[in-house]
Amino acid sequence: MRTGEIMDDLLIRGGHVIDGSGGPGREADVAVVDGRVAAVEPRSPRLARRVIDARGQVVAPGFIDIHTHSDFTLPLNPRAESKIRQGVTLEVVGNCGFSVAPVLPGRAQMQREYLASSAPWLEFRESTFADYVAAFPETSVNAILQVGHNTLRLMTAGLENRPVTAAELAAMERMLEEALAAGAWGLSSGLFTAPGNFADAAEIHALARVLRRHGAAYSTHMRDESDHVFEAVREAVAVAEATGVHVQIAHLKLSGVNNWGGAAKLLAEIEAARRRGVPVDCDAYPYDTATNPLRNLLPRWVMEGGIPAMLERLRARDVRTRIRDEIARSGLTNFGRIPSWDVVRVAISPQMPENAGRTLGDIARGHGVDPIDAVADYVVADRGETRILITSMTDADVREITRAPWITVGSDGNALAVTGVTGQGKPHPRYYGTHAHVLGPCVRDLRLFTLETAVAKMTGVAARALGLRDRGLLRPGAWADVVVFDPARIADRSTYEEPHRYAAGVSTVLVNGQVSIDGGDHTGALAGRVIRRAA
Ligand SMILES: [Zn+2]
Repeated sequence: MRTGEIMDDLLIRGGHVIDGSGGPGREADVAVVDGRVAAVEPRSPRLARRVIDARGQVVAPGFIDIHTHSDFTLPLNPRAESKIRQGVTLEVVGNCGFSVAPVLPGRAQMQREYLASSAPWLEFRESTFADYVAAFPETSVNAILQVGHNTLRLMTAGLENRPVTAAELAAMERMLEEALAAGAWGLSSGLFTAPGNFADAAEIHALARVLRRHGAAYSTHMRDESDHVFEAVREAVAVAEATGVHVQIAHLKLSGVNNWGGAAKLLAEIEAARRRGVPVDCDAYPYDTATNPLRNLLPRWVMEGGIPAMLERLRARDVRTRIRDEIARSGLTNFGRIPSWDVVRVAISPQMPENAGRTLGDIARGHGVDPIDAVADYVVADRGETRILITSMTDADVREITRAPWITVGSDGNALAVTGVTGQGKPHPRYYGTHAHVLGPCVRDLRLFTLETAVAKMTGVAARALGLRDRGLLRPGAWADVVVFDPARIADRSTYEEPHRYAAGVSTVLVNGQVSIDGGDHTGALAGRVIRRAA
């Protein structure tokens, strides 16, 4: 080393750089200094403490998983194994109206019961959002935290089916402001389930105005994704139009056989709003199967008043008759009409883990009862904690939505690991495979888009939707979240039968400049940070 030359931390040499902008890839070396990208240049003359040979591989910005629930698992799996092994370096958590905090005094048990079917192994304790941020674990991925509307409503009106009072709304606004001050990126809503579905547009607009004042964002699991999905999209777009807040529509889909084939029309509806200048973006996962608490398939009134009230209600014969009639008339809540109960299978069942993988159709036949009785019996036996997989979409719609270059990629999944507490049951394979599936099979086999477009959807386009300025593009000055992968080999290996399998094809991942995956293995680095909204 000659005097005056800079010794960089790291040089990724000889790779094919796809920078996240959607533009064509090029041969270049990537230099990293002090956690940031210092240079992207062909045949760099720089010297480095460590040189990574990326010949034959793609070098891209770390992937943004824009919609996840890893706040439920990162404390148990801080190495974020299933995500970082795909090249994911940033997870946006606190989605669908669910956040771990705030939990007001005396409400921890209610929160635990409410979230047991999503976060069965997590401990819940009384906490402000600031306490929560301060105690957020050191993890291998960066995290953007949102506060959940369902959580705020649970802390004020509980699971009561009514409008909030003026005092309750003021309390929710105060908790939202506290969360934003503590570093929350924005508010998520889950209007599809209690208690979010009890909120009217005025309540959401009031909270969105708070967001707007703080330059914060709104994301929504919409009120409906099946027979009323178009009305739900209009409701989401109206929040952006009325308040000016950025709206992220989560996991865009058309559920239920009556709605199959509607993807092009649905996309056109949202694109029309975008052309009018409405700040609305969407994400999607590339699978025809959703995952949800089993109880969410039942009519929404079943959960009124809380989980103990639900369990009591579901034992009554006349309640089951009413449920049977409603489902016969208008399909499942949230998912619409399904071909049969054989498309619904148990994913994780904390009290009855032996049932993972069995369908509800099979369980009903095994007990010699009709499916509604089987579902009601199951919810009662597992205290509403069971999570299911439901194949309620059609492949053609999933492809149409996945293909759109402006739709970002969100796994809607948790960071899991093949060993330890998060390696249980048969969770959705998307928890292990979403990004690898888009980069591999969707590019190579289905030819939905170019590799440059696939990378852009999970980097530059996602960063723009989030309003993130220094991540998502591989350029000097950006944080050095970087992934090196083999474009011929990258693929998901997780299946519905064997979900706990890591993706293949990713050799190196840097998070904030630190080597976190090296030669395909986790280094143990916990270099992620909580990314706070700029004041
Ligand atoms: Zn959701």
